[in-house]
Amino acid sequence: MKKVTLMAIAILFSGMSVLAVHSTTLVSDTTKTKKVKPAKVQYTCPMHPDVLSDKPGKCPKPNCGMTLVKKEPAKKKAAK
Ligand SMILES: [Zn+2]
Repeated sequence: MKKVTLMAIAILFSGMSVLAVHSTTLVSDTTKTKKVKPAKVQYTCPMHPDVLSDKPGKCPKPNCGMTLVKKEPAKKKAAK
C-alpha cells in the first residue's frame, strides 16, 4: 500500500513541475511580445479611429478636418 502512495506522490510532483515550466514559458512569451512593440505616440481623429498619424495635424477625411488628438496607449487589453 505504501508503494502505491509513493507512486501517486511521484506522479503528482512530475505533473506539477511540467505545469510550472509551461506557465513560465507562457509568461516569458508575453514579455517578449510587449518588448517588440515600440511605444510611439500616434495621433488619431476623434471621429475616425482608423486615421493614424505620427505627427499632429488635421484629419484627412473629406468633410471632417478635425484636429488630430494624441492616441493614448491602450491600458486595458480589448477582449478579442
Ligand atoms: Zn476625422
